[in-house]
Amino acid sequence: MKSLWDDAAAPAFADDPLQLRVYTSRLLGQEPALVMHGGGNTSVKMQVDHFFGEPEEVLCIKGSGWNLATIEAAGFAPVKLDVLQRLAQLEKLTDTEMVNVQRRAMTDPGAPNPSVEAILHAIIPGTFVDHTHADAVVALSNTPNGEAAVRDIYGGRVLVVPYVMPGFLLARMVYEMSRDLDWSALEGMILLNHGVFSFGDDARTSYERMIKLVSEAEDHLDRRGALKAVTLADEPAAPADLEKLSRVRRKVSQARGGAVVAPLVTTAAARGFAGLDNVGAIANRGPLTPDHVIRTKQLPVIIGDDADRCIDQYATDYEAYFQAHTDGRLKILDPAPRWAVWPGVGTISFGRSMKEAGIVEDISRHTCRAIQWAEALGGWQALPARDLFDVEYWELEQAKLGKAGSEPPLQGRIALVTGAASGIGRACARELRGQGALVTGLDIDAAITGQWSGDDGLGVQCDVTDYAAVQAAVEATVRQFGGLDILVCNAGIFPPSCTIADMDADIWQKAIDINLTSSQRLMQLAAPYLKNGIDAAVVIIASKNVPAPGPGAAAYSVSKAGLTQLARVAAMELAPDGVRVNVLHPNAVFDTALWAPEILAARAEHYGMTIEQYKTNNLLGVEVTAADVAAMAAAMAGPLFRSTTGAQVPVDGGNERVI
Ligand code: ZN
Repeated sequence: MKSLWDDAAAPAFADDPLQLRVYTSRLLGQEPALVMHGGGNTSVKMQVDHFFGEPEEVLCIKGSGWNLATIEAAGFAPVKLDVLQRLAQLEKLTDTEMVNVQRRAMTDPGAPNPSVEAILHAIIPGTFVDHTHADAVVALSNTPNGEAAVRDIYGGRVLVVPYVMPGFLLARMVYEMSRDLDWSALEGMILLNHGVFSFGDDARTSYERMIKLVSEAEDHLDRRGALKAVTLADEPAAPADLEKLSRVRRKVSQARGGAVVAPLVTTAAARGFAGLDNVGAIANRGPLTPDHVIRTKQLPVIIGDDADRCIDQYATDYEAYFQAHTDGRLKILDPAPRWAVWPGVGTISFGRSMKEAGIVEDISRHTCRAIQWAEALGGWQALPARDLFDVEYWELEQAKLGKAGSEPPLQGRIALVTGAASGIGRACARELRGQGALVTGLDIDAAITGQWSGDDGLGVQCDVTDYAAVQAAVEATVRQFGGLDILVCNAGIFPPSCTIADMDADIWQKAIDINLTSSQRLMQLAAPYLKNGIDAAVVIIASKNVPAPGPGAAAYSVSKAGLTQLARVAAMELAPDGVRVNVLHPNAVFDTALWAPEILAARAEHYGMTIEQYKTNNLLGVEVTAADVAAMAAAMAGPLFRSTTGAQVPVDGGNERVI
């Protein structure tokens, strides 16, 4: 591991210890092999001026909820140093007491809650203190001879601290161990099964000691051949059983009590790990550090031939683990796994959002690698379940997770919308995303790829009558998000006005192909996944022309009427699998690409109306917008319609012919 210290970037802050603290904290945060997603913490001891002018000694320590990679000065909590140092001398202190006393001792009441390691940072004499959960060091200590190897590598340059619960207990242990200690002879501390501390009187020394300590562990792993013991798959990934993936996701969602996303990870590293003969055994020994338990739980689920049974068994085992360790007052968390090892295929990350699944994926990737390092050093050996349970059910850790707030109605659901680049389709896709769904948008317009790229969206340019392309889009959706719950069949054309007598055969056929047949094929391609969906729903965007047709629009009206009949049959055929199918009949939605201003003006003139009169020519006298249609589509896809299938709902401002 290399130092990222850059003289050109650092000197500008040389007279400001907090800015230097921000700078080297971010250097640590940039390296995922040191810390990930809120892990690790840093501090600086400095003087601040009290309101009445007297200087005060404070420990500015990383605030809870901040990431080292992106931390700012405002992310550090200033706590009176002498208060923290006195806390370390107490025999006992509950977590709640610790948090309360620390908050009262803050010189800035608006700052975030100090890290749970504040007391430990305070008793280390170095001005700057850095703490990480470096993979190499933790993996090394997760082996049978780990402690001996640590002592061998570092000699007397570090204090070796046995595993103990982080927070007050850890601070208390280090306080006892260091009563007669000459700190100046030390470069840092190795916390077995947990991480590394370094310290120094300037930011660079402390940071570079961290890099040095971690590099020494990496060198040790390298000399023992452990770094090379990581298996990477060299064959290209075989097509995965995506229908099974969608079943895994459904089962995990049921255990979780809400829809999860389940992206399939088939990188060479994930497939290499999942292809190991003993993967079921080595993956089931525990996490890299207890700090990860709140994100990943203690263990992944290993997916066997009968995936449902594996996930049921996982939940049963989790409940037994809880019962074995609870004091009777704790409330059990959901028993759903946070990640899966799918032997021979790869790994799956679960989350209520793609962000959460991404965090799980990062942690599981590092875990898979570290397990293989440790295996090469004599065997992967995680902490006992008791220690992991204490962290998983630690009230301070639970508080971090509890801040999520209420979730939108479609959180974690997965949708596919056709014709999503403009008009009603785009409004539907936006509304679904706004309500928490992951959305794949299909459109023939190339603009779709730019509109829906990113982790929680997929934009696919394709012709909805190109069934190979549509199939690829459905499969890409399942691979990226884990399944498919919501289908919005919206793509359509409105051919030029033409009587039956003058009908052009190609125009007729094109309307039938795009407006009707493409939806049948899409439902056919999506059905295997919708059947495994979470509260699965199909929303058909039909037209007022179905209940109230007009002359000159035979191709359009017939294709939309056929689409409506298709939906009615689908409602009956898919009901046994819990898939709802409902139809929306919009009318006169003018804020779409179809209605250029000059066309609108021409139509209004044709009926002898002003544009305003023409737009609001319905019983309620309202202008119907694409957003109105989208809101109804999202409602049909959501819990409001959980008991409704086969319904046809107009969104037209009221029309005498329809009523
Ligand atoms: Zn830690």
